[in-house]
Amino acid sequence: MRELLPYLKLYKKHWFGLSLGMVLAFCTLFASIGLLTLSGWFISASAVAGLTIARETFNYMLPGAGVRGAAMARTAGRWGERVVSHNATFKLLTDLRIFFFRKLAPLIPGKAVNIRDADMLNRLVADVDAMDHVYLRLVSPIIVGAFGILCLTAVLCWFDMTLGLTLGAILMLLLVLWPVIFYRLGKSNGEALTLNKADLRIKTLDWLQGYSELTLFGAESRYRQSIIDAQNKLLSNQFVHAKISGMAQGLLILANGWLLILMLWLAADGVGGNQPDPLIALMAFATMASFELLMPIAGAFQYLGQTLTSAKRLNEVILAEPDVTFPTESVSHDSAFSIKLNNATFRYPDANQPALRELNLDIPSGHKLAVVGQTGSGKSTLLQLITRYWDVNEGSVELAGHDIRSWSEAQLRQSTSIVSQKVDILNGTLRDNLSMAKPDASDEEIAQVLAQVGLEHLNQDSGLDAWLGEGGRQLSGGEKRRVGIARALLHDAPILLLDEPTEGLDKKTEQQIMSLFESKFAGKTVIFITHRLVNLDTFDKVCLLEDGEVLELGHHDELLAAQGRYFELHQTL
Ligand code: ADP
Ligand code: MG
Repeated sequence: MRELLPYLKLYKKHWFGLSLGMVLAFCTLFASIGLLTLSGWFISASAVAGLTIARETFNYMLPGAGVRGAAMARTAGRWGERVVSHNATFKLLTDLRIFFFRKLAPLIPGKAVNIRDADMLNRLVADVDAMDHVYLRLVSPIIVGAFGILCLTAVLCWFDMTLGLTLGAILMLLLVLWPVIFYRLGKSNGEALTLNKADLRIKTLDWLQGYSELTLFGAESRYRQSIIDAQNKLLSNQFVHAKISGMAQGLLILANGWLLILMLWLAADGVGGNQPDPLIALMAFATMASFELLMPIAGAFQYLGQTLTSAKRLNEVILAEPDVTFPTESVSHDSAFSIKLNNATFRYPDANQPALRELNLDIPSGHKLAVVGQTGSGKSTLLQLITRYWDVNEGSVELAGHDIRSWSEAQLRQSTSIVSQKVDILNGTLRDNLSMAKPDASDEEIAQVLAQVGLEHLNQDSGLDAWLGEGGRQLSGGEKRRVGIARALLHDAPILLLDEPTEGLDKKTEQQIMSLFESKFAGKTVIFITHRLVNLDTFDKVCLLEDGEVLELGHHDELLAAQGRYFELHQTL
């Protein structure tokens, strides 16, 4: 049960709606029980009165009005209860999703949660949804049920102590027994149901995403079969679930029947020591109606297994500690955006070799450094340290003379523009895809930037409203890269980090982009990663990385003159 604690805390904010929901549920139940009880007694009492002299004096009006009133209260109460409690639950779920997302976002670069996309989606949707059971199916029915039994007992005791207490005690016993029994019975099936539901979703998504590939390799039917297997497992879980629900309700109705017989037997000699009279009907109908209190909890506790499994799956994310945490306070620095690495060593969590070893780099504000090196030499890792995707294991990274760990996240993101090796195109319009870098950019500004990176052809027909990404126009590798560069131009931060921005571009476009950098990025501090050794004489320094270490560092001309490794690489091109 401890799994549920983080979620119960969220309830505090919505205590009013949630409690009001329970009060209304209670009123509805009471109106409902009152209706059956009063009308049962009323019909018997009128019949008895009709047969005797009392027909002259019997008050038909008051109980008649009571029945009418209870019927209306029941309808209005049920409506009100549904509106209030569902409203509160939906708000709670909204909060819970935001809470979950806030916890999830900082975990994404790290290794703390290694969860696949489809599974994560399932957690965000289905497992969060399962949390509404806690209030709607468990907390509310139990509290309302217990309170209702106490009140019903008190009312009946006013007529007859023995009868009232007997009914109350047996109802309480059932209220305790049913949850315990059916939680036990439904537990393992409920757990399996949650996991199999997730499994079916993951498999279906896998199949959908890889459909063309699977078809081309003739593996489509095999994958489809695994979806069907997962579905069959889920169906059998649902079958067991329905069986247990049916059993819970059936047994409760059976218990009701026996309890009715017991109450009739006890009341047969008269209620409250009187001669047998219509109050016997009141007792009988009260017993029948009392099961309305228990019905909601009959099968509810077999959901507890599912809910707890969902809570556990959410907790794997919520309770995980991010590898990188940012301070909330921003650091005060002057506007000289230098970058400095002091003996920076970094190893990926599951790697044997460090990706970067005792790296020392000093890039004064406004200087431009080109980083070259073979694939796997640690170039991209260097940028990941400067963007705090990861933290160094030893040594430090400094921006503008302050340790990067003292920068707040917003401040760091404002100060750095990045063109990463893999540019993600969002499922959205061309405008969405660019204005993410500068939300207040005007259409003219965006169009201008598009022209600068040679993408004006995207800005035709439907203009900036053209749909890109999934379900829209697919961009080529070179076009994506240029979108990345356009974003960096819009973002316009003082530090610019570029990871092979000209890879996949033809010679002419490469030249265009390079001259664009020269004109647009003057005065910025730049790290430019490339494996193409062209135009590097325009950089202040070139750094040659090999196996995570700086092999050579200096101006292009110096390195050529030294006739070392850089010279060799330059010759072979
Ligand atoms: P480059 O950008 O120079 O091609 P990277 O910086 O991407 O090289 O990678 C440097 C080394 O770190 C490589 O050996 C690579 O396999 C390893 N590496 C990169 N990313 C990860 C990761 N997320 N987890 C583990 N190892 C990684
Ligand atoms: Mg790389």
